[in-house]
Order: sequence, then C-alpha cells, then structure tokens
Amino acid sequence: MNYLKCIECDATYDIDEIIYKCGKCDGILEVVTDLDEVSKKISTNKWKGTSLSVWRYADFLPIKDRMNIVTLNEGGTGLHRCKRLAEKIGLNKLFIKFEGENPTGSFKDRGMTVGISKARELGVSIVICASTGNTSASLSAYAAKSGMQCIVLVPAGKIGVGKLAQAIAHGARLVQVQGNFDDSLDMVLQLCERNNQIYLLNSINPFRIEGQKTLAFEVVEQLGVPPDCMIMPVGNAGNISAAWKGFNEFEAVGLAETKPRMIAVQAEGASPIVNAYRKKALTIEPILSPETVATAIRIGNPVSWMKALNAIYDSTGYAETVTDQEILDAQRLLAQNEGIFAEPASATPIASLRNLMDEGVIDKSDSIVCVATGHGLKDADVITRVFGKPVEVEADIGKIEKSLNLLVKYDRWLE
Ligand SMILES: *Cc1c(COP(=O)(O)O)cnc(C)c1O
Ligand SMILES: [Zn+2]
Repeated sequence: MNYLKCIECDATYDIDEIIYKCGKCDGILEVVTDLDEVSKKISTNKWKGTSLSVWRYADFLPIKDRMNIVTLNEGGTGLHRCKRLAEKIGLNKLFIKFEGENPTGSFKDRGMTVGISKARELGVSIVICASTGNTSASLSAYAAKSGMQCIVLVPAGKIGVGKLAQAIAHGARLVQVQGNFDDSLDMVLQLCERNNQIYLLNSINPFRIEGQKTLAFEVVEQLGVPPDCMIMPVGNAGNISAAWKGFNEFEAVGLAETKPRMIAVQAEGASPIVNAYRKKALTIEPILSPETVATAIRIGNPVSWMKALNAIYDSTGYAETVTDQEILDAQRLLAQNEGIFAEPASATPIASLRNLMDEGVIDKSDSIVCVATGHGLKDADVITRVFGKPVEVEADIGKIEKSLNLLVKYDRWLE
C-alpha cells in the first residue's frame, strides 16, 4: 500500500488524507511507493509496448482507478543529442531533455496530470496554486479539461506574458499579488487553511512530485542507462527532488543499475540551495528579495529545499550558480546551435557547463543530461528586450540587400 510520510519525523498518513504538512512537526510529505507492489505489476502488466509518456508508468503512480485519470498527453518529450553545443563546450555526450514539448510547454504538466487526477479521486472541485507562471499555465489547462474551478496567485509583473496568457485563456481566476512568489505561496497556504474546499496543487503537494518523477524514468529508457550527471534548474526544488525519487525507484525495482549525480543550478540572485551546499549545511537560509531574469526560478524560500539537499548529498552531486548574463548567453547558444528554444530558467544547466568543467565537477567523457524545463515562447518578451528588435526596411530590393550586407561582404557573411 502507498502512504504519505513526513520527510522530517517519519510520521505516516493515509494516502487519501488531504494534508500538505506534517501535523506533528510541520515537515513536508512524500508519497512512499509500495515498490513490491510495483515490481509485481510491472512484471505482469503490458507497459513496455505503450508509448513514452507519464502514464506509461501508471504502475508507479498513486492513482487507484484509471477512470480518474485526466490527461493531455504529457511526457514523452525528446532527449536531444547536442553535438554542436557539446563540441563548443568540449563535451562528448551532451543531451537535452526538452520539457518544453509538454502540452502546456513545461515539465509542470507531468505533475499536474497526476495531481489533478488525485483531485478527482478525492472528489474536490476547486484547485489552487501560487506560481512563477508555468504552474498556473498548467493547472488552469488541467482544471479546464476536468471541469474544476481554478484559482491562481502570481507575483504581479513578474511572470512571462505567455504564461499569463495561458492562465487567462483557460479561464482561471487569476490574482496578481503585489509581492514575490514566496508571498503568493504564503497567501495560497493561508487560503487553503481557511477554506478546506480548496485543493492545493503547488509542488508541496506530493502527488505533483509523483508525476514529475517520470522525467527520470524516461531519461533512463531513452538512454538505455541512467546518465552520469543530471543537471537541473532549481526554484522551489520540487523537480530535482522528483527526478531523484524516480532514479531511486527505477533502481529499486531493477530497471536501472546506477544513479546519476544530481547537479542543481540556481541564478546568482536566487540561490538559497547553492548557498547551503557551499557551506555543507543541512538547512537553508531564505533569500528575502530574490532577483533574476529567469523568473521561473526567482524563488528565495524553496518549499522542497530539504528534499533537494538530500538529492544532492545522497548522489554526491553538486550545486552551482550562474549569472543572468550567462543564462541569456546559454539560451541563445542552445537556440542557435541546436534548434531548441527554451526559456531563461531552462537554460541555466547549459549556462553552468563551462564552470562545472573548469571546476572538475564534470568530465569530457561523462554522459550529461541537461533538463530544459520550459519553452522559450513562454517568455518571448525577454528576447526582444535583451537581443533587440529586428530591423525594418522598405520593400525595395536594393535596400533589402544592403541591410542584409549582401552587396558588400557576401563572402565574409557566409563564413
Ligand atoms: C517550475 C520551473 C522550474 C523550477 O522547478 P522547481 O521544481 O520549482 O525547482 C524551472 N524551470 C521552469 C521553466 C519552471 O517552470
Ligand atoms: Zn513530521
């Protein structure tokens, strides 16, 4: 039987209890998967013939009745071998897992399909989240699909316009909170405490993490073996925790023999986890005013910090910061060498590669998977703002050729 467990004091709770924090110590919870049960199921069920997706791994997921599944076909995203980029950086085996290929354009859909299915199983009809953008885009889509009411709180003026558009289009009740993400989440937690009709679907909800662990399953199956290093952006720290849980579960049931080193990347202005790692500390010190161009990870007080630190320490991983300039350079490098357009937060693993090489954390021969967490169209503003607007020219062939520099230095331009 699956159950909920406090990650701090080990207190256990029924899998169907609506609870987000431990009643005894206020710690956050995780789903403990019954891996004996999973082993039995995967040895008899016909899952290997199904296509790559979150629900290919239904045997690992805590949804009791398949009738409750709400899906938009999430997961099954590409693992792209990046030869041109790898050569530029001096690596041999570099892959991007492009989570922007999910239905609403980010990995959040993996967790949301499971979270909303659990909400249906529990019989709730109003769902809520605080968001740096992608969680609200995803939740509002899944709420629409399932016919639930959706409330979303976001930090005013600090989320990509594409993400805001998604929440509006899908009909969420959207409130822009004057404050940062941490303030929004605080408001949402209080709303849930005051109204027990409202079901919380931030990543503090352990069912979100369950869906997101399928990222690790897919990477193992796509590569044939786990990579040496898994490099991920870290904001609220749910996703790196989820991936680590996934690698552990695949190993536990005999579907993998090794586990990767988990490497967390944060923006310099929002790096509580990296700060803790550098001090080899067991707790974090929240950052009061996080700041970065990578709005999806502009978080100072990550809910899942303990799970993330466990993942880093247990895997003999690492944690690294990158500057906003490095993030934007990496975003462009990825787009212009590999055809993958990822949002700024999603480019942080690429941004970290050179430093990780210099520091001897990763090696030329390592197989490395960087997770590109969300699509670049989510935050198209940043592109024109940072890289400038394209030129505008009269419909005159001479002027067009001149503006393209074709007349003067065509040969040099082709180099
Ligand atoms: C949510 C998000 C992150 C951060 O994930 P956490 O689980 O909060 O650490 C990173 N990148 C993108 C694009 C996201 O939407
Ligand atoms: Zn506890």
